[in-house]
Amino acid sequence: MTIDTSGKYWVGTHPLDLKAYLRAYAEGTTISAFRLAQCACSSTEFRVEADADEGCVRRNCARCSTAHFVCDSGDYAAEAKLTPWRCKCRSDQANIGVGFSLHDNGDVRWLYVGLRCRKCGMLGCIADWKVQYGPSAHLPDTV
Ligand SMILES: [Zn+2]
Ligand SMILES: [Zn+2]
Repeated sequence: MTIDTSGKYWVGTHPLDLKAYLRAYAEGTTISAFRLAQCACSSTEFRVEADADEGCVRRNCARCSTAHFVCDSGDYAAEAKLTPWRCKCRSDQANIGVGFSLHDNGDVRWLYVGLRCRKCGMLGCIADWKVQYGPSAHLPDTV
């Protein structure tokens, strides 16, 4: 795993580079849990649709096309206007990693959805949102 931070955008050589990227992205916030999204078919490559304002991200498996709302995104789907993600390199497939800021009791305070372009490795945070309810300690298992 190596992150090239020399350019305008950070570029990661491996999907798990998302963990270090989100830790840096969140700055003052401690990311104490991280999960890499994986489809039931074991693929970690997805087409992604998102509405950053509503806090809603849906992933569609690049291999088997199974769709899944990331964490509690499904709760906001009715209001969300999902836009397909596409990298500047024109690839539309990415790894997805989610970083979590947690309360002392394990409930989620804030979550950050990171993408790593499958083709060029560009790292980015497509959406982040606050979780204002409990219990929410299960959310890391619903990435
Ligand atoms: Zn799949
Ligand atoms: Zn790219």
